[in-house]
Amino acid sequence: MSDRDRPAGALVGRGVSPGVGFGPVHVVSREASAPDPGACHDGDAEAERARAARALERVAADLERGGERAGGEAEEILGAQALMARDPELAAAVAGLVGAGAGAARAVYEGFGRYRALLAAAGGYLGERVADLDDVRDRVVAVLEGRSPGGPPFRAAEPYVLIARDLAPADTVALSRETVAAFVTEEGGPTSHTAILARAMGVPAVVACPGATSIAPGTPVLVDGSSGLVWPGPSGDEVAAAIGGTAAGGAVIGGTAVRGTAAGAERADPGMATGPGATSDGHAVPLLANIGGPRDVRDALRYGAEGVGLLRTEFLFLDRAAAPAEEEQVAAYLEVLEAFPGGRVVVRTLDVGADKFPAFLPGEKEPNPALGRRGIRFFEKYPEIMGGQLRALARAAARSRATLQVMAPMVATAEEAARYVTACREAGLPSAGVMIEVPSAALRAFDLALTADFFSIGTNDLAQYTFAADRGSGALAALQDAWQPALLDLVALAAAGAAERGRPCGVCGEAAGDPVLACVLVGLGVTSLSMAPASLPAVRAALSRHTRERCLLAARAARAAISPGEARAAALSLLPGADTPPPRRHAAR
Ligand code: PEP
Ligand code: MG
Repeated sequence: MSDRDRPAGALVGRGVSPGVGFGPVHVVSREASAPDPGACHDGDAEAERARAARALERVAADLERGGERAGGEAEEILGAQALMARDPELAAAVAGLVGAGAGAARAVYEGFGRYRALLAAAGGYLGERVADLDDVRDRVVAVLEGRSPGGPPFRAAEPYVLIARDLAPADTVALSRETVAAFVTEEGGPTSHTAILARAMGVPAVVACPGATSIAPGTPVLVDGSSGLVWPGPSGDEVAAAIGGTAAGGAVIGGTAVRGTAAGAERADPGMATGPGATSDGHAVPLLANIGGPRDVRDALRYGAEGVGLLRTEFLFLDRAAAPAEEEQVAAYLEVLEAFPGGRVVVRTLDVGADKFPAFLPGEKEPNPALGRRGIRFFEKYPEIMGGQLRALARAAARSRATLQVMAPMVATAEEAARYVTACREAGLPSAGVMIEVPSAALRAFDLALTADFFSIGTNDLAQYTFAADRGSGALAALQDAWQPALLDLVALAAAGAAERGRPCGVCGEAAGDPVLACVLVGLGVTSLSMAPASLPAVRAALSRHTRERCLLAARAARAAISPGEARAAALSLLPGADTPPPRRHAAR
């Protein structure tokens, strides 16, 4: 948004989850002061140790319960936080500090501090986990000091706009979209995990918005999760124009409207905007869902996904004491497959390594974890894990009425692609593709397509590796912009390489959920789009308003630009209305 278009007093950040939300501000501040270093216990070290242990366990159990309630990726993230609270080395460090005389709260604070320093020094993805660790620490200290952990309220009289410097995953996932009208953070990038979770919840969100936390609590704020506008104190008419005839707290989410109080919310029927994805002249563009496990299937169906374009399978492997048995994997995959009889489900095989290590494997210290052994590099190093997952997938496919396709993350070369496809074939999986997330893969797409049955472009990592910009860094958010012409060039190259060999090439990165960019991606030659379920209606509507020829012209104009802003403006001028949410229709729940 240009300064000229910005209403007076409004702030602008990065819109990362589409829709418009309105409500009073609730600012989350976790700047609790550190427990006094001189605070000692009363001499009964054993009792104090037990108190610390109880608090750690209580927080672990709360996090675990919150994760189970939320499901999907949230369960994974909160589960990892619960593991932090249950770490035996941490417990031993706390016990040692209490033994040396420290009170339980101080001992916990210092015990976590040692890990914090290690993570912060590692930087990258591990560095980002500092916020998660701090969140666990603050929760435990709050319990020990008899305070509430200071997170956002889980219930409120009307939906509120949650503002924070940065949100811990636990803050995001324990909330419901009926309670929160929008998220705004000062930090965080568009592909940070908080942004992905907000999209998965279907709540409008703006990140990298400096100054947001200085908006006074209670101020009514309008948040546009597409343009990134954060507007304190708009008039009733302005709110009504933005969210459709009401000044009560609420949100328009992914093109569907939620409004009214938390208790009496009215939700638009997302089914109205269903049907196969296609341009206005009938060029089919299957619209698929990104999901983090079987619990997300309901949303995928609700928003009319034609299938699953990305099932992230990490949920089965992280935070486990032992590798999941084949039988358990088969059941989880079948649960997803059975939701789409006759449809397709693309499963991404395990994407861990470098920084996300399954607890049952020894960690590896790498100086530059994001550039280390992750994705397929990890998978190849542990053939028993790879073999088990591929076998389980083949068994699930044999029992299902859906078409299963599998794909590998982080593939960089044609040889890696060929080895992966061979392994899949040997396991009895007929359709094996690769993700295009590394620039080398896009540059040599024609070679990779020799063996890979299809491509799926992961624009989140492709941007990270193209611009050498950590995807979790708010300060580098501009480099994580999928409108960057260099990224569009790589998408075009990948799609052309696939097309020359008659292979389909989808996009499953967050870029696919931006309605204007979705049209441009189609113009670049992308054949399917997979996104957070709540983004589906707006993308479906945008495609249905424009011909394929228009998309081609918009793609050409965007690539001719020299900045992301120009690229978007050039595309939008050829795709009028592509950024307008689909018509709203309300249905009582
Ligand atoms: C991507 O990198 O674009 C992607 C879809 O994978 P993830 O976000 O899980 O890394
Ligand atoms: Mg990726």
